[in-house]
Amino acid sequence: MKEDTPYQGKLLDIISNMVCVCSGETIAWINPAGVKMLGAGSPDAVVGMSFSALVSSDFADLIALGLDAFAEEDAGVPLKLIPLSGPHIDVQMRVTRIEGIADGTFVVECRDITEFIRSAEQARQRQQRLSGILDAMAETVIVIDQDGTITSFNPAAENMFGYSALEAVGKNVGLLMPAQHAAQHDGYLARYIETGEKKAIGKVRELEGQRKDGSIFPIEIAISVLHEGGRRVFTGIIRDITERKRAEAQIRHLAHHDPLTGLPNRNLFQERLERAISRAERAGNFAVLMFVDLDKFKPINDSLGHEAGDIVLKGVGERLGNCVRSSDTVARIGGDEFVLILEAMDDWSNAAPIAQKIIDCLVEPFQVPGTQCAVGASIGVSVYPVDADTPEGLIKAADEVMYRVKAEGRNNFKFYTDPSSAVAVGKASSRAKT
Ligand code: GH3
Ligand code: MG
Repeated sequence: MKEDTPYQGKLLDIISNMVCVCSGETIAWINPAGVKMLGAGSPDAVVGMSFSALVSSDFADLIALGLDAFAEEDAGVPLKLIPLSGPHIDVQMRVTRIEGIADGTFVVECRDITEFIRSAEQARQRQQRLSGILDAMAETVIVIDQDGTITSFNPAAENMFGYSALEAVGKNVGLLMPAQHAAQHDGYLARYIETGEKKAIGKVRELEGQRKDGSIFPIEIAISVLHEGGRRVFTGIIRDITERKRAEAQIRHLAHHDPLTGLPNRNLFQERLERAISRAERAGNFAVLMFVDLDKFKPINDSLGHEAGDIVLKGVGERLGNCVRSSDTVARIGGDEFVLILEAMDDWSNAAPIAQKIIDCLVEPFQVPGTQCAVGASIGVSVYPVDADTPEGLIKAADEVMYRVKAEGRNNFKFYTDPSSAVAVGKASSRAKT
């Protein structure tokens, strides 16, 4: 037989779990940790007691089965002990039958798991509080893992995207984006995991979301990253910015358009004229500017009222739009002043029939409440690069020649440089050929 090692006899004295030997149900021996755990003062206070007397009544039915019943449970059994003094203790009990001494002799080992249970309960409560907060939040909160799999989807997210949490959790977050973003997102996540390259983390970004019904809407997303046991967890707070985008677009539109006719205003006209000049320069063709001022418009206001005047102005805007290509610009830059920019003209003398068409179409009467009225128009025409090569130069030339038309009797058009002159036409065709 092998000799005992020097510490063998002391092992049961030094381990921190309670160990006792029971003969039948009666405690025959208990180690110091057990005496301490039970608040007993000395082993004598416990030896001779029935083990079941130390077990909480909550477990009375269980312990009534006898220690023998637990000897089969390798993993142990959770139990609540009532010490001789002090609060109840949660323990994990393991029972081992000792063969060959006397029938019904058991070693009972109890490990104090009170702390473990308390911290598990605290963790559960924390988790419950957190999901309570997520559930109550008006903000959409979506959590994904580092593979892009949705792990949490709060009720606001359900509302926003039309998926239930049950449908969304476990799916790739690409589910919530238009296809082209979804493909990018997988690559982005992989790059972030590999290189730490952060395009989105910690910043508010504007993206597009896609609802279950397929509709796409603008979103703003703030993403934070947490490290959980070597893996990364991404939390996104998402806002639907449809309304904001609409308001921004409206403000942009208002800044560039005339509220009465909906046509581009002076600001947008200026931008378009600059662009038209650049394009004509690149293409080697002509850009034509037409200044249109209505004739005797004021008397319409005076005799029929401002509202009737407004109806005429709107009607003029529509008719001008019908006289040119959709790629050309019609703008209202003042009371009864309109401008047109005709682009990609290979022969600028072709502006003459367009100017005539404008005059003819404005002569047709406008229907206003209770009556009809007619206006004429005086049109001044300037040409890039024939008359000037800057926006200011072209505007000045067209304005000047428009006033000449007014002075010469109105309801007519005039070019700053007469296209019928041989020199001018020569310029047009030579430029168009380059
Ligand atoms: P002319 O033939 O010399 O061009 O004279 P006109 O009567 O057309 O008058 P003018 O071009 O000098 O002035 C334009 C008028 O347009 C002045 C103003 O009463 C009117 N007006 C300006 N803005 C608006 C508007 O938004 N609505 C209406 N109804 N009238 C406007
Ligand atoms: Mg006028």
